[in-house]
Amino acid sequence: MRNLIRNILLFTTGQFKSVANGIHILNSHYIGRNDLSKEIFYDLLKELNKQVDFINIEDAVIAIKEKTHQNQKLVTFTFDDGFEECFTKIAPVLSDFNTNAAFFINPGFIDGDENYRKNFTENIVHVNKHPMTWKMIQELHQQGFVIGNHTFDHVRLVGLTEDQLQNQIVISKNRIEEQLQSSCEYFAWTYGRNSDIDKNALNHCLNSHKYVFGGDNYTKYFSFNDAIFNRRHIEGDWSLNHVKYFLSKTKKYQ
Ligand SMILES: [Zn+2]
Repeated sequence: MRNLIRNILLFTTGQFKSVANGIHILNSHYIGRNDLSKEIFYDLLKELNKQVDFINIEDAVIAIKEKTHQNQKLVTFTFDDGFEECFTKIAPVLSDFNTNAAFFINPGFIDGDENYRKNFTENIVHVNKHPMTWKMIQELHQQGFVIGNHTFDHVRLVGLTEDQLQNQIVISKNRIEEQLQSSCEYFAWTYGRNSDIDKNALNHCLNSHKYVFGGDNYTKYFSFNDAIFNRRHIEGDWSLNHVKYFLSKTKKYQ
């Protein structure tokens, strides 16, 4: 019931909102919790594209850092957890719009056996989906998509030992680089709130990756003294008005 009221409210307020100027980094996981068609995501982007332009994630991070393109309405995409539909549905739709995304993946989910994956989907990410294979991920990389690190086992980066941090951040990065034969410079931490990472873990991420992403304080471009890019959560089956509502907030540097 509370969800229904929230949806009605967002729908009616979103109708009258227009996207604010600036560079918006979106963060999603899938088109929908169920196995939905790619046309749903295509239709959302088609409508959104009437108000904004889409840009590659590599261009977006540079524009944000250099404070350029502030008078345009630009949207860039990121997807976490590396589900199969990133390869089968989401990437093809993004290619239709001549843009890319960063896909943040968990090597443990890809390499894991049936029991590992069952635990991962039931108890960690709470959605019943398969991971992409390394072959799919390599193909995305070759097509110009960015492959980023999302920890080895999708752990919350709070209170971990040095060994655990090394495994979850650096060994995970190494595994991705070994598979891609290319360096992995992008990291997004799990669960996304600024309280879902501690100072020690954040230092490990920043020491090993060029670009680090969270999912908090969306109206500001950065968190943690300009070290972290903030992203706005949406999913591929949300209505245009929901998306517009969130993107209508003016973005600030401080
Ligand atoms: Zn995640």
